[in-house]
Amino acid sequence: MEIVLASRNLGKIREFRKMLSEVIGLDVDSLLSFPDYPSPEETGTTFEENATLKATSAAKALNKIVLADDSGLVVPSLDGEPGVHSARYAGEDATDHENTQKLLEALKDKSDLERQAYYECALVLAGPEGEVLKISKGHCEGIIAEEARGRHGFGFDPVFIKHDYDKTFSELSDDIKNRISHRRKALDSVKAYLEGMMSRATST
Ligand code: IMP
Repeated sequence: MEIVLASRNLGKIREFRKMLSEVIGLDVDSLLSFPDYPSPEETGTTFEENATLKATSAAKALNKIVLADDSGLVVPSLDGEPGVHSARYAGEDATDHENTQKLLEALKDKSDLERQAYYECALVLAGPEGEVLKISKGHCEGIIAEEARGRHGFGFDPVFIKHDYDKTFSELSDDIKNRISHRRKALDSVKAYLEGMMSRATST
């Protein structure tokens, strides 16, 4: 069975490919193979709304099973920012580095309590007619470091330290991040759903 990830974010695609390689018989493609498909504007106010938009519109346009992820970093002391605006926190075409620098600046001289943060991930799986098949969410709580450290991961990983760890996500190997991340937590029930779909397809 084939699914398409509704993303062109290389960091996300790499993580999904690795985690979904555990599902035997599943082919994972991404929007990188469909350069002419225009992704919809992310007009939702929640991660779930945006993931639903991304999944249903790509599924209908491509006539394929699509998995969409909408995720970001929430800092309660910054009124929930960057939140659903994480990818464009420092501007429309901002790089990960620019977004991270803006966050460090916003939290400069703030207490540990004010540096508390969490990643949130909403996943939506949609069928070829745009019907929603499965919705799943995951969280990962931690604190924002005072400076960027490490070379793995993407986005805000160089400054995110999960509770009970002393390294940023960028200092951990990809395998460790993929075992403990918000994306992993959200993906577990989607994986089980996909396995069920595949076994039903082979038994009929
Ligand atoms: P989206 O592609 O619109 O869902 O935006 C995702 C953005 O959220 C990324 O560009 C990052 O800024 C942030 N983000 C989401 N998940 C992660 C993660 O696992 N590590 C680091 N940053 C993340």
